[in-house]
Amino acid sequence: MATRRLLDRLWAEDAAGRSWCRVRLQVPPAASEKRADPAPADGAPSDSLEAIAREAAACTRCKLAASRTRVVPGEGARAPRIVFVGEAPGADEDREGRPFVGRAGALLTRMIAAMGFTREQVFIANVLKCRPPGNRSPEPDEIAACGDYLRRQLALLAPEVIVPLGAHAARWLLGSAVTIGGVRGRIHAYGTAKVVPTFHPSYLLRKPEEKGKAWEDLQAAMAILGPR
Ligand code: SF4
Repeated sequence: MATRRLLDRLWAEDAAGRSWCRVRLQVPPAASEKRADPAPADGAPSDSLEAIAREAAACTRCKLAASRTRVVPGEGARAPRIVFVGEAPGADEDREGRPFVGRAGALLTRMIAAMGFTREQVFIANVLKCRPPGNRSPEPDEIAACGDYLRRQLALLAPEVIVPLGAHAARWLLGSAVTIGGVRGRIHAYGTAKVVPTFHPSYLLRKPEEKGKAWEDLQAAMAILGPR
């Protein structure tokens, strides 16, 4: 309850135009961070985050291969308790080869910090590994071509909680007909992971008045992970 009051106060500070979080909560237990990649079942092909990143770096499965600067496979802990999924790299990410850099990335980093994590303790990825030109929305053929990379990443990462950021990530995880407004505020499932959809940080930069709802979503994710 004390933690809840603290977080509520931190959010109230943000609503007043200051920061998402001025205090970092206790870092979650590190035991799960030490977990190794799962061993493949007998006869199953081995897989690894590195193999996925290598394959994506050379990938030409869809038309975005022709216009990308760098592939952005994702980054973070090898065995995170929580994974954040966005829709696709933007201009900054395409230039740096890393997910969620730039202004939206800075906001996501503060959101993660408000939950008591660092970026290194979570995993951050996108549905698409290459930037759509002009930051347009991902197209169905691109999502179909690229989705297997994220599917394999999530199988290896085996997080307790997945937070899709925005409608495209929510649709990939929960079904093509969903809207972010229709699915946020409830807990969903992807395999054994709980799915807690929330708004994309880029949307929150345009609509800061929605940060309160996003904070409620992050609190729901924290409640699943338990007291720390
Ligand atoms: S977006 Fe995905 S499927 Fe398309 S070229 Fe990039 S890595 Fe390959």
